[in-house]
Amino acid sequence: MITFETFWENHERVQARVLEACAQAGREPAEVRVLPVTKNHPFDAIAYAERAGYAAVGENRVQEALDKMSAGQTTCRWELIGHLQSNKAKVVAERFDRVQSVDSEKLLRRLDAAAAEHGRRLSILLQVNAGDDPAKFGLKCAATPALLEVALGLAHIQIDGLMTIAPLSDQPAVAQRCFARMRDLRDELAAQFGVSLPELSMGMSGDLEAAVASGSTMLRIGSAFFGDG
Ligand SMILES: *Cc1c(COP(=O)(O)O)cnc(C)c1O
Repeated sequence: MITFETFWENHERVQARVLEACAQAGREPAEVRVLPVTKNHPFDAIAYAERAGYAAVGENRVQEALDKMSAGQTTCRWELIGHLQSNKAKVVAERFDRVQSVDSEKLLRRLDAAAAEHGRRLSILLQVNAGDDPAKFGLKCAATPALLEVALGLAHIQIDGLMTIAPLSDQPAVAQRCFARMRDLRDELAAQFGVSLPELSMGMSGDLEAAVASGSTMLRIGSAFFGDG
């Protein structure tokens, strides 16, 4: 695990990149939040994020996150960003503050039922495979309106927006296309359903500039903070 000093340098580099990307895109830096992704790193990574002023962290696997939740105390909120099987919906609806990876009606309904049991309203994003990447989870763009309609009808689900992961590619245009498609899809859905869907979770260490240019409101950053560990 890296030292806090190294983390802090990485944090300053990431913030400088985000500021530059916002300047290039003519956007307010306050519109773009950074979510440190602490998967594959020990609890220290969450403590570092908290100390640097981040209010939430992203975790990829349920069990790994639960282990860290019991490893220490943090004021950071927990966001699940990795694929979730519906048999884990119960514990996830209880322990996580938001689930970014909702991509099926079965999972959505289970999360709603579990959130109801815990007397809460669970925030979610719908994960969209906007790059049509066969290696990625997520809804096809064309299937997203139907799932949004279901989500809007569930009393214990709060739908904040959409999440995507761009296909891995050495050509920047691939990520750019994916992110622009996401923004267009969000705008279409917002108009069609009369809702705002403010959150666009897109962009990672390698493609944050393209994501900011297309309207990302949340960058999920792992390796640029913590190395490849
Ligand atoms: C690991 C992960 C990230 C962070 O990726 P980096 O390239 O390390 O910044 C973002 N989103 C998801 C869904 C991830 O699993």
